Amino acid sequence: MKNEIKTAVLYSDIKPNDEQTEKFIKFLTEEYGTQVDLRWEKNTKIKNGFRLAIGGEVYDWTVDGRFRQLKNYIKTLAKENTGLIPLLKENIKNWAPEIVANEVGTVLTVSDSVAVVSGLKNAFYGEILVFGDGVKGMVQTVTEEKCGCILFDTNAEVLAGTPVRHTGKIAGMPCGNAYLGRVVNALGEPIDAKGKIETEVYRPIENPAPQIIDREAVNKPLQTGILAIDAIFPIGKGQRELIIGDRQTGKSSIAIDTVINQKGKDVICIYACIGQKTSFVSGLAAALKKHGAMDYTVIVSASAGEAATVQYLAPYAACALGEYFMERGKDVLIVYDDLSKHAVAYREISLLLGRAPGREAYPGDVFYLHSRLLERSAHLSSDKGGGSMTALPIVETLAGDVSAYIPTNIISITDGQIFLENSLFHSGQRPAVNIGLSVSRVGGNAQTKAMKKAAKTLRLDLAQYREMEIFMQFSSELDEETKNRLHYGQGLMHMLRQKQTSPYNQHTQVIMLICALGRCMQNIAAEKVSEFLKKAVKKVERDYPEICANIDENGDYSEDDEKKIISAANSVGEQYA
Ligand code: ATP
Ligand code: MG
Repeated sequence: MKNEIKTAVLYSDIKPNDEQTEKFIKFLTEEYGTQVDLRWEKNTKIKNGFRLAIGGEVYDWTVDGRFRQLKNYIKTLAKENTGLIPLLKENIKNWAPEIVANEVGTVLTVSDSVAVVSGLKNAFYGEILVFGDGVKGMVQTVTEEKCGCILFDTNAEVLAGTPVRHTGKIAGMPCGNAYLGRVVNALGEPIDAKGKIETEVYRPIENPAPQIIDREAVNKPLQTGILAIDAIFPIGKGQRELIIGDRQTGKSSIAIDTVINQKGKDVICIYACIGQKTSFVSGLAAALKKHGAMDYTVIVSASAGEAATVQYLAPYAACALGEYFMERGKDVLIVYDDLSKHAVAYREISLLLGRAPGREAYPGDVFYLHSRLLERSAHLSSDKGGGSMTALPIVETLAGDVSAYIPTNIISITDGQIFLENSLFHSGQRPAVNIGLSVSRVGGNAQTKAMKKAAKTLRLDLAQYREMEIFMQFSSELDEETKNRLHYGQGLMHMLRQKQTSPYNQHTQVIMLICALGRCMQNIAAEKVSEFLKKAVKKVERDYPEICANIDENGDYSEDDEKKIISAANSVGEQYA
């Protein structure tokens, strides 16, 4: 084996003199035979000595290196024996530095925070490596001769020839209750200038998803406070519901409103910003603070200006934090905003690591990348504490194309999608939920009785209206029946318009639906619908507080209640006649 090695590289700050060079050549000839070339490369980091790399083996003749070896040696002694001091005295006498510093690798190339390292035969996927003075990185690919790593510190000086050491630790995220209310980066370090965060545990960022026997069916609602979603595409705790749409169609707003709506509901929210503008992140933190939502929220951010490597890590780190709370029996809501940018970051890393590009230049495993992230959302069984993690991944489409590679992948992994449509958004229908293309596959089981009863045929009625909408152009020639139906549909669409950051509570939603589907709005112009509904809700709240309380607390109402609500609404409607 040793005969095959040809080139040895000597790293140091100062070039070795002739006498030193001669010594190295002598050493190499003794160890490896005569067929070795010795090359010198300048490395400003290696002061006080030399490092010699030959094949996978590295000889560390620096003062630092020798100290480290001594330290490790003492550590092993300490583990074996308790009487440390006498042992030290005795052993230091016998100690001599080893020549081969076991498995110290060397950086071959660095580009855009991706480093290729040789000489670490025992590196494993996900291991943290330490570069030079302490810059950390994580192993992404392992081959027999080299391994590819992503660096966590994007500004660190890592050069070709920098030594790399094992830690044997898997990449992780510090977790703890103290994270609530904070804005942190993908490594869990605070970026909100509010000081250090006390952490309790360190969790691997890549963790297997909960097993089937540890899971329970989705059966509790997670209310978004957005009528169009809660009534038609309900989300349950533990569900993964995709929010998809073109740019600037209100995707993030839906997620933010959902976070705001969790106030007082004992749900912990984690908002992972991936490749977002820094202004968005600070705006998000300010909006959540303003609505009192920051107390139960953590923002994990890897913004657009940061390296692809940390953008790639951010959702996993956020997920690890979510799991920490879920395993302690909490209900967690996690938003990944957004996974298209995450896929782009991963594509960049993969191409730098030399992996073969596939469809749209994404590597073949990009599907697995997202499925292993989203599979970690679950509703745990009561044996496991009964916690849950609901995921709202966000994906951006181009010109409404849901059949592109990343959207189709993520649609197939999630339990439904909320599709936001550009044309609806610009026609003023906000949130711009497309009723035909959106779906929620499991959330219906989690809807409260009150919501189920009240929403009745809403989806069907809206679908019918969308079909008939084209007749609107000929409205003067239409018969009375069709006109009525169109007017009813228009009213429903107006009811679903909702302002940002103003989620509705359960009884407001139920009362609005009862009024609309009970045909209380037949005589009201579409533009006046929102105003009318607001007044009707106020009246019911004033006249029948017990009905509202029953809906909020028990999620139900009686037929008698329905009649009362409708008559109250009709009396409000008379003002509009
Ligand atoms: P991007 O693609 O940039 O991430 P996005 O799809 O996440 O955008 P948002 O940032 O949520 O969209 O919203 C885009 C714009 O639409 C914002 O200016 C926001 O204020 C506005 N908007 C979103 N929802 C509503 C709403 N319900 N009513 C009125 N305006 C809204
Ligand atoms: Mg957005």
